[in-house]
Amino acid sequence: MPYFNYEEFEYKDVLNEILDEKDVPVARCRLLSKGFEPYHRLSLDDPLLVEGDKGCLACGNCIDSCPVLRKEPERLDDTTVQRTSMALESTVGEDCEQCYSCILACPQVDTSLKDYTVDTRVPEVIPPARALGILDKYLMAVVALVFGILLGVFIDISALIF
Ligand code: SF4
Ligand code: SF4
Repeated sequence: MPYFNYEEFEYKDVLNEILDEKDVPVARCRLLSKGFEPYHRLSLDDPLLVEGDKGCLACGNCIDSCPVLRKEPERLDDTTVQRTSMALESTVGEDCEQCYSCILACPQVDTSLKDYTVDTRVPEVIPPARALGILDKYLMAVVALVFGILLGVFIDISALIF
């Protein structure tokens, strides 16, 4: 259940389109963001040089966070030396599992876009823990069984005493 009411969120529709598509989303989310702002650096001679820059920083965070590349690291062969969103697109492409880790890992994606993604999508793609699922299904049966046993013992003891 989203914490915020996103009805008025200006990027809701376009972001939903991006998130619905089975394709690497990080670069498009980066372009929807505000980009580099003066307060992102401690000191800068000319803040306007980087203000609004939405370019990929080549930090590789999206590459490192992608489960497709973790499972198949050989996709990043010697020809893919770059650690950019373009490299992610060329190695993963439509095999994207829509986990959205790359969006969350990218320093160039605005927090509001990350919040929206987490609040509206991430709970849907995290499978429930198996143990919890089993517990959920059989908990009432176990409780009823224990209660029945205790009730039986109580009735037996009562019959012996009275
Ligand atoms: S990190 Fe997740 S959303 Fe991003 S490209 Fe990889 S599988 Fe797709
Ligand atoms: S995480 Fe780094 S490499 Fe990936 S798109 Fe963002 S800035 Fe570029």
